[in-house]
Amino acid sequence: TMAQLVQAEKMSELGKLTAGIAHEINNPIGYIRSNLESMTDYTASFRDIFAQLSQLEQEVGELRVPLQALQKQYDIQFLLEDCEDIVQTNIKGIDRISGIVSDLYAFSRRADGTFKAMDIHPVLQRCINLTRSRFADHHTVELDVSAVDTRLRGDTSQLEQVLMNLMLNAAHAMPGVGTLTIAVKGDALWLEISLTDTGTGMPKATLNRIFTPFFTTKPTGQGTGLGLSISQGIIRAHGGTIVATSDVGKGTTFTLRLPRQQDGSQ
Ligand code: ADP
Ligand code: MG
Repeated sequence: TMAQLVQAEKMSELGKLTAGIAHEINNPIGYIRSNLESMTDYTASFRDIFAQLSQLEQEVGELRVPLQALQKQYDIQFLLEDCEDIVQTNIKGIDRISGIVSDLYAFSRRADGTFKAMDIHPVLQRCINLTRSRFADHHTVELDVSAVDTRLRGDTSQLEQVLMNLMLNAAHAMPGVGTLTIAVKGDALWLEISLTDTGTGMPKATLNRIFTPFFTTKPTGQGTGLGLSISQGIIRAHGGTIVATSDVGKGTTFTLRLPRQQDGSQ
């Protein structure tokens, strides 16, 4: 239908754009990172030289005064520390950008927006298998599709990306023993998928921001904060909604509501 076509076009434009951005950014990141790594090597050598100079200074007493003057003049130690800080900060920044780029890239590869007749049950099963290694032995993952019709029109790989992200977030939110319960319900028009974890939960201030691009509470390098904003984009492109409720110390529930058809036709 027309609405689906427009949507598919929007998504594929977005895909091309993000693929382009990812490629343009990835290249310079590669060489900036290796430059910074060699700079780390240089500062290490300088440190070595500095240590040897200090050694020499102690061994050759007469040189003490001029060497101290030299050291003061250039304040080598301070410069080195400054330099190392800058290098380390830059490397961290680059690793963060790399993470964002690979998220965008994963998204663009999948953003073909082709809505086809599909079944969410095997997709859920596949996501559970794919994320198995990220759940620990003390975790239980339960899937309840209790005889509901699990078919809808959608983009399999995009919905898989959404479910993967929700499952990985849940695994991350359960540092100790925990259970993720995935339930699918539905009626003639809508399919409802809920993912409930018994994890840390979120305070209201966090909950209010989870769909904001780049919002993350994870340490640098561990999260880009793009997962839920991309997920929300995908669910909206399907004509659906994604909402979260959470209780600190008890856990979190994400509920996806997806129309069986994007515009009620067919
Ligand atoms: P990322 O996983 O890279 O941090 P997301 O967009 O997937 O980015 O998630 C954003 C933030 O939402 C997370 O950093 C975390 O604070 C919070 N969050 C998401 N899912 C859960 C969950 N199941 N339990 C607790 N907090 C969550
Ligand atoms: Mg995530």
